Amino acid sequence: MIPFLDLKRINEPHQVAIQQAIERVIQSGWYILGGEVDAFEHQFAQYCQSGYGIGVANGLDALTLVLKAWNFPAGSDVIVASNAYIASVLSITHAGLNPVLVEPDPQTYLIDPNRIEAAITERTKAIMAVHLYGRCCEMGSINRIAQRYNLKVLEDAAQAHGALYSSGRAGNLGDAAAWSFYPSKNLGALGDAGAITTNDETLATRLRALRNYGSSQKYVNDYRGHNSRLDELQAAILSAKLPFLDQENNRRREIARYYLTRLKNPAVALPPADQIDRDVWHLFVIRHPRRDALRTYLHNRGIGSDIHYPTPPYRQRAYPELAQLFFPIADTLHGEVMSLPLNPILTDDEVAYIVDVINKFI
Ligand SMILES: *Cc1c(COP(=O)(O)O)cnc(C)c1O
Repeated sequence: MIPFLDLKRINEPHQVAIQQAIERVIQSGWYILGGEVDAFEHQFAQYCQSGYGIGVANGLDALTLVLKAWNFPAGSDVIVASNAYIASVLSITHAGLNPVLVEPDPQTYLIDPNRIEAAITERTKAIMAVHLYGRCCEMGSINRIAQRYNLKVLEDAAQAHGALYSSGRAGNLGDAAAWSFYPSKNLGALGDAGAITTNDETLATRLRALRNYGSSQKYVNDYRGHNSRLDELQAAILSAKLPFLDQENNRRREIARYYLTRLKNPAVALPPADQIDRDVWHLFVIRHPRRDALRTYLHNRGIGSDIHYPTPPYRQRAYPELAQLFFPIADTLHGEVMSLPLNPILTDDEVAYIVDVINKFI
């Protein structure tokens, strides 16, 4: 069986470094907000070519805390793609703001910049650019629109560790970027973890307080903050894995290139091949009109797959107020997309077998 994802195998190459990191933290006797978090924040910000890194508990909190730190009036609009992950939308409502969904470009699966301006009103305060599946949104157009209407731009970079755009890198393409290190992400912890990167020093200082009860000095509380701290153990593990991220992303690109050149089934729609080396291929998402039949066929031949995502946010019971809206592009995508195995530890033989099996599906 080729599982869709095998986290044990993915972490195996890092086992010795991870064990050393864990041992170091145990011996230090300091487990929350210490030297390991500091060190990882610096290394990760540097990796993202960004001025400041702030470790937090998870990706959802990273998004939510930035939106709260910007202090928009309650109920302000934040624009986000209609096919975004549920956490992107949850962060907007958790911050007391209103998600305004904009359809994606059906070729890239990313928010369509040509549809953003029509969604802007005087209530609009920010655009959330979700770099879905590992490819950066069209940040040139998005930043131009944001500048014209005086909006903040928040990157949801939870699927885009190391992704490139023009001369920049995800994490340094807007006013702030939110990261998740959930175990399955391109850079994954062994538990929950997240971070924010930004070049805005004032925002960084406020976020450091907001993640820790609103306090920058012990027992002094300037804001009604959260407990959303990155712990020392996860920070040490992430520091051990970060030096290998580029190498692992390059292996992902190699596999993506193989899929893109060898998959020849005429009914399978492939993801865009124009930025193979900029994309970090968090997911390799294909479309098929009989997606569920293809998944069963693969399963019967020992190949795991997944769907990202089966149900869009506006069709979830959590958001009845979005249920009357109409998003035909997102609806079509959600009915047809499926994700093939793509991760740094897949072997050439496994990838060749997957291609061979898919090409024979009729
Ligand atoms: C994983 C993910 C998140 C949420 O991260 P958590 O750490 O699970 O809270 C947010 N947005 C996107 C696009 C994600 O893939």
